[in-house]
Amino acid sequence: MRELNYVSTGRLEWFDRPEPELHGPTDAIVRPFVVSRCDGDTLPIHWKGVTTMLAAGLRTGVIDPSVGHIAGHPPFQGPAPIGHEAIAEVIALGSDVTHLAIGDQVVVPWSVSCGTCQNCRRGLTSKCLTTRRDPAAPDGLRYLSAYGFGAASGPYGGMVTDLLRVPHADHMLVKLPDGLDPLRVAAASDNLADGWRAVVPGLRARPGGRVLIMAGGAKSIALYAAGLAVAHGASQVDYIDTDADRAAIAESFGARVQVVRSTRVSLPGLGYPRPVREGYDIVVEATSSGAGLRHVIRCTAPGGECTAVGYYVGTTTPVPLMHMYATDITLHLGVTHPRAVLPELLDWMATHDFPAERVTTTLADFDDAPAAYAAETTKLVLRRDPLHA
Ligand SMILES: [Zn+2]
Ligand SMILES: [Zn+2]
Repeated sequence: MRELNYVSTGRLEWFDRPEPELHGPTDAIVRPFVVSRCDGDTLPIHWKGVTTMLAAGLRTGVIDPSVGHIAGHPPFQGPAPIGHEAIAEVIALGSDVTHLAIGDQVVVPWSVSCGTCQNCRRGLTSKCLTTRRDPAAPDGLRYLSAYGFGAASGPYGGMVTDLLRVPHADHMLVKLPDGLDPLRVAAASDNLADGWRAVVPGLRARPGGRVLIMAGGAKSIALYAAGLAVAHGASQVDYIDTDADRAAIAESFGARVQVVRSTRVSLPGLGYPRPVREGYDIVVEATSSGAGLRHVIRCTAPGGECTAVGYYVGTTTPVPLMHMYATDITLHLGVTHPRAVLPELLDWMATHDFPAERVTTTLADFDDAPAAYAAETTKLVLRRDPLHA
């Protein structure tokens, strides 16, 4: 069967691989039929020389060691199976799986979790203590257990594949509500759940709050966050990006947009808007840059919440802690725990007409994955027909 592999910058290929089998009674085999490309996947695909640069940075201590623990030594060395956002149909079930049936359409979270350990019970499903166990890893635990990050994050393979094995299937796989278009929630495994966690809990605590989204790095997450913020009653959503087409999508969701020359460099004249005096209650940092992070912290209102959804790979990224102290703001960084939010996210998506598919800038045929996955496009979604209608 086919599995899409990242080979090198701009180059992806189908690799032939034996079909996965049930390893235990709690496993499932699923067939992905809607797959989308996470914003993070574009790092190795579009950034020429990323492996050499990150490896050199790890050697000299400039890049944080966690990058190597997650993406390997050297990081993002191809070939490696890629892809970790998928809607799939259930093909085979272990004898202990009771909540699923053959043909069920399910969301597969990007990180593999057990559902019963102490961290899973706290909602930290991407830091599961069971699935990250690995005698070869420091302290016997991997940083992440995930699909599509390469061997350093476990043996699970990528989601752009004909068949995929899912352990702890009763817990892991979340059924798609009846009537919900899979293309609408193509990114629920990761980026849509990321946009959700960045604005929805914060707005629940601060009803009608003002929201700022600094976009351009984590491209689709910023758009999902903008749309979800408007739909969850933010009194104002300001969206700042370098790309006019993305800004138009944010505007169509009801955000107030501004297109600037750069969101990653805070030099005067490059277009950073001046922080507004009263600040924003909820701020999303999606530029994936230290400059963006420092800027949005200074844009956050007293008592406000700043969620950074990008990668900050440096060992020491300066952060204005005194300003944060003086304004009493909360900075939240960290991987998403999609399994923990999927039930409420899918329920909300099924009962509200939120057109998340507007973020999809390229919809391609699953068979064309090698070329399509390399495209310079904000959000790629691949689709094929499910076997069970
Ligand atoms: Zn991702
Ligand atoms: Zn667990």
